[in-house]
Amino acid sequence: MKELGNRCAAILGFICIIAGCLFPARCAFCESPDQYDKARQKMVLNQLKERDITDPKVLDVMGTVKRHLFISRRYRSQAYADHPLPIAEGQTISQPYIVALMTQILDVKPGERVLEIGTGSGYQAAVLSYFTDQVWSIEIRKDLARDATERLKALGYEKVEVKHGDGYFGWPEHAPFDAIIVTAAANHVAPPLIDQLKMGGRLLIPLGSTTYYQSLTKITKTPQGKEVEHLLGVAFVPMVGKILKE
Ligand code: SAH
Repeated sequence: MKELGNRCAAILGFICIIAGCLFPARCAFCESPDQYDKARQKMVLNQLKERDITDPKVLDVMGTVKRHLFISRRYRSQAYADHPLPIAEGQTISQPYIVALMTQILDVKPGERVLEIGTGSGYQAAVLSYFTDQVWSIEIRKDLARDATERLKALGYEKVEVKHGDGYFGWPEHAPFDAIIVTAAANHVAPPLIDQLKMGGRLLIPLGSTTYYQSLTKITKTPQGKEVEHLLGVAFVPMVGKILKE
């Protein structure tokens, strides 16, 4: 009996090797959910805790959200690696550390209203949805907006609402926001986004050159105008649309 079991395991192993060689991105036998869970916990430990992510809730959420389900099968084996990955239309899903860091800096509290510009895969919006009741997210590329909407729905992220449009104009129907996060590089801050921030609200944006590097910048709206903090150097894909015409 034991021998039969060993033989079955050997045959299954052989099928896996062949399937893995023929269809490297599609071998269902080779993908165990367990493997992703382990990789995700390792990512939290080595890439987040080892750096400066200290907020226990951020660590917990990063250890919960299945990042591998936000990217195509082709790149899934790298889902928890320490770098950004391609998504459709030449865009990228940010490095896990950057998602965690931006979430930690934004420091969203229950009940706060959050707007994201640049839905992409929907991953950052999904992460933010653990902190409050509703996250609104705008994506300028129609297919990405549609795919992210479907993905978030299929994965049960009902608190995230995605709209196809130019994030330059914000989402006035849901304003004012406590927090706005821009996940594409901008050469200036779109004035409607400042207008749609609550007093004391914060906006996090990669600000600088849209083709090279930016400074991750936190802007807090104050009665005197705004307070600006430059936090660290980053490299995001460019924000497009009206911002480039201004
Ligand atoms: N936050 C995403 C990654 C963002 S990549 C994630 O978690 O996967 C940047 C995204 O911003 C791209 O999908 C790009 O199409 C989008 N984008 C660029 N300019 C935009 C604009 N003006 N309004 C809304 N989205 C924009």
